Amino acid sequence: MAEPRRDTHQDHTAPEAWGRAVREAEARAWDALVATARRTVADGLVVGTSGNVSTRVGDTVLVTPSGVPYDRLTPDDVTGVDLEGRQVLGSLLPTSELPMHLAVYRTTDALAVVHTHAVHATAVSTLVPELPAVHYMAGALGGAVRVAPYATYGTDALAAHMLRALEGRSACLLQNHGTLTHGAGLDQAYDRTAQLEWMCRLWLTAASVPGLTPSLLTPDQLAEAGERLRGYGQRG
Ligand code: 13P
Ligand code: ZN
Repeated sequence: MAEPRRDTHQDHTAPEAWGRAVREAEARAWDALVATARRTVADGLVVGTSGNVSTRVGDTVLVTPSGVPYDRLTPDDVTGVDLEGRQVLGSLLPTSELPMHLAVYRTTDALAVVHTHAVHATAVSTLVPELPAVHYMAGALGGAVRVAPYATYGTDALAAHMLRALEGRSACLLQNHGTLTHGAGLDQAYDRTAQLEWMCRLWLTAASVPGLTPSLLTPDQLAEAGERLRGYGQRG
C-alpha cells in the first residue's frame, strides 16, 4: 500500500478515520480508475503525479490520492469521499483538485472526470480563450472548447472558473494548467481527454505554418457533427 501522506495541502481536512468497508462495486470501480490513471501516464498525457482521475459510484466519489505515483496504487488504497468532500474510504489524502471533481458531479450526471497536464492542450491554454474549431470532433465535446481563466490549483476559484467554461461542454482547458473532461464512464472521460489533446496538437500544427491561417468550422457545423456522432460506430 502507498504510504499515507497527511502532511501536505493544509487546506485539506485530513481523514478522521479509515472509513467504512469498501463495497464490491467500489472495489471494481477503483481497479478501473487506477487503470485509467496509469493510461494517462503511459499515453504521455501526464508526467509524474500531475493530473487526477475520479469516478462516481452512487453518492461516493472515488479519487486518486494526492501526489502518489499511479504505479504504486494497490487495491488496498481505495480513496473515496462523499459529495461534500468528506472522506468515507481510505486514509490517503485525496487529490488536491477535489473541488473541481466534486463541482462536476454536483452539477452534471457525469460518472467520471479526468484532469491532465497534457502538453499541447496546456500550450493552447496559454494562447487563446477558446480552442479554435479546427476539427469537427469538437462537436463531440459539445462545441468549441473554452479555456477557464487561471486560478491556483486546488482552489474553489479554479473549480468555479472551470464550471463556467464547461457549460454545455464535456471538456475545457484550464489556463496555464491543463485539461478537464467528464463522461458517462472512465473510458469516455479518458477518450475525450485524448481527443482534446489531439485537437490542440492539430491546431498548433496548422497555426504554425507561416503565412497561412487554418480554416475554422462554424458553431452550426460543430453542432451538426456532434448530432451525427451520437450515432457513430456499430449499431446494437
Ligand atoms: P494531485 O496529485 O493532488 O492530484 O494534484 C495534481 C494536479 O494536477 C493539481 O492540479
Ligand atoms: Zn493539475
